[in-house]
Amino acid sequence: MVEYNDLIFEISRSGRVGYSLPKSDVKSVNLQDKFPKHLIRDEAAELPEVAELDLVRHYTALSNKNHGVDNGFYPLGSCTMKYNPKINEVVARLAGFTSIHPYQPTETVQGALELLYNTQEELAVVTGMDAITLQPAAGAQGEWTGLMMVKAYHEHNGDKRTKVLVPDSAHGTNPASASVAGFSIVTIPSNENGLVDVEELKKHVGNDTAALMLTNPNTLGLFEREIAEIAAVVHEAGGLLYYDGANTNAIMGKTTPGFMGFDIVHLNLHKTFTGPHGGGGPGSGPVGVKEFLLPFLPVPRVEKDGDTFVLNSNYPLSIGRVKAFYGNFGIIVRAYAYIRSMGAVGLREVSEGAVLHANYMRKKLEPYFEAPFSQVCKHEFVLSGSRQKKLGVRTLDMAKRLLDFGYHPPTIYFPLNVEECLMIEPTETESKETMDAFCDVMIQIAKEVEESPEIVLEAPHTTVIGRLDEVQAARQPVLRYKKAETAVQEKETVKA
Ligand SMILES: *Cc1c(COP(=O)(O)O)cnc(C)c1O
Repeated sequence: MVEYNDLIFEISRSGRVGYSLPKSDVKSVNLQDKFPKHLIRDEAAELPEVAELDLVRHYTALSNKNHGVDNGFYPLGSCTMKYNPKINEVVARLAGFTSIHPYQPTETVQGALELLYNTQEELAVVTGMDAITLQPAAGAQGEWTGLMMVKAYHEHNGDKRTKVLVPDSAHGTNPASASVAGFSIVTIPSNENGLVDVEELKKHVGNDTAALMLTNPNTLGLFEREIAEIAAVVHEAGGLLYYDGANTNAIMGKTTPGFMGFDIVHLNLHKTFTGPHGGGGPGSGPVGVKEFLLPFLPVPRVEKDGDTFVLNSNYPLSIGRVKAFYGNFGIIVRAYAYIRSMGAVGLREVSEGAVLHANYMRKKLEPYFEAPFSQVCKHEFVLSGSRQKKLGVRTLDMAKRLLDFGYHPPTIYFPLNVEECLMIEPTETESKETMDAFCDVMIQIAKEVEESPEIVLEAPHTTVIGRLDEVQAARQPVLRYKKAETAVQEKETVKA
C-alpha cells in the first residue's frame, strides 16, 4: 500500500521538466566506445520529473521544516547556537574573498593573507597564546592537531609519554581525538561539585602523562576554580595542558586559557565566533600555542615580513599540514567580521550576557527540576530529569514535547556524569521575552508530567513526523530519490 507520506512527497509526473534550455547542437556520442561496459547503465536513471514551480515549492517547503537559529530558539548546550550576524554574510560574499584561488601567487592575495594574519593576532589575544594556526576544519580536528603537537614535543625531548588525562565530564571528542593521535586515555572522575577531583588527578599524574585535556568552564557550565593548582600538578609531572575552547563564550575579556596556565587551546569559530553551524557545514577550529610549541605548528604559517604577508613552510619540527590550503577561509572571514564589529569591549559584553542569561534561566527552572549543581554557572547549566523519571517520563520525552512548541530541545544525556541530563545554553543573543517564554513551556511540561504524562510520552504531536527510528535513520539512511512505487516495493521486500 502506498502510504500517505509517500503520496504527498511524490510530485513527479512523467514528461515534466524544471528547466528550459535551447536544443543542444552537440553531436551525441556512442558511450560504448568511451567507457568500460560495467559503468554504462542498462536503463535510464529513475529521476523525478517536476516542473520548475513545483520544484521551488518542494524545496521551500522542506527548508521551512528545518529548525535554525533564524527561525526559533535553539538552546542546545555546548553548541552555542547564537545569532549569526548578517553583516558577516555580506563581508564573506565580497568578490575579493570569493573570486580568489589558493594557488594564486601570494603577491596577488595580500588582502586575504592580511585577514588571516590579523585573525591569528586577535585570537592570540582572546586565548592568551603566542601563536595560532587557522588550518583545522573543526573543533575535533583542532584537538587532534594539538595532541599531535603534544606528541611531537615530547618525542623531540626524547620523552616517552603515552597517556592523556580526560575528566569524565569532557566532550566525547576529547578522548576520541587523543585516541586517534595514538594516546591511551585515563578518565579523571569529577567530585560531588562537578569539578575535577584534584586528589584523584594527583593519583593519575606521572612521568607517562603527555597532557591533561580540560574544558573551563567545564561542560557542566562550572568554572574549575582550582585551575592554578591543576596546572601546577600537571606541569610539575612534565605534562602539558590542553584547553578545549570550543565554547569560549563565558570568558572573553575576563580571563584567558594562557593566564590559567594552559599550553595549547583550540577554539570553535563556528560556535563562539558566529560561524553558522548545525547543518554539518564547514567549521573552523583554530589552535593556539605558547611560544615553546610554535615550532611544531602546522605549515605553511601565515606571517608578516616587513609590509608583506607571506606563507612560511620553513619549520623543520612542524607536524606538517593538517588540511588542504589555509583552513575554511569563508568561516574565518565571518569570525574576523564578528571580532572587528564587536571590538574588545563588545566581546567582554558577550561573555557577561551569556553568563547572565544562563543564570537567569537556571534560577527560573530550578524549582521544577532536579539541579545537581545549584551554584552560579557560566554560559550554560545542567538540570536532571530524575524527578520526572520517577513518574515514568524520561528526559527524551520532555525534549520531544518541546518540539510541539517550536523549540529546539536542549542537549540531553550529556554530560554523561549527570543522570537524565538536560543541558541548556541560551547564549547572549536571546531576549528576555524568548527566555521567559521557553521557561514557561518547560514549567508547563513539568506540570504535564505530574498531571497528564501521556501528553509528554506521546510527543511530538505537531511535527510532520513523530519519533524517528534513530538507529535505522543512521544505519540505513534513504538519501536517493526513488519513485513511490519502487520505495514501497523495497520496503515490503525488507519486511518480508
Ligand atoms: C562542539 C564541541 C567540540 C567539538 O567541536 P566540533 O567542531 O563539533 O568538532 C569539542 N568540545 C566541546 C566542549 C564542544 O562543545
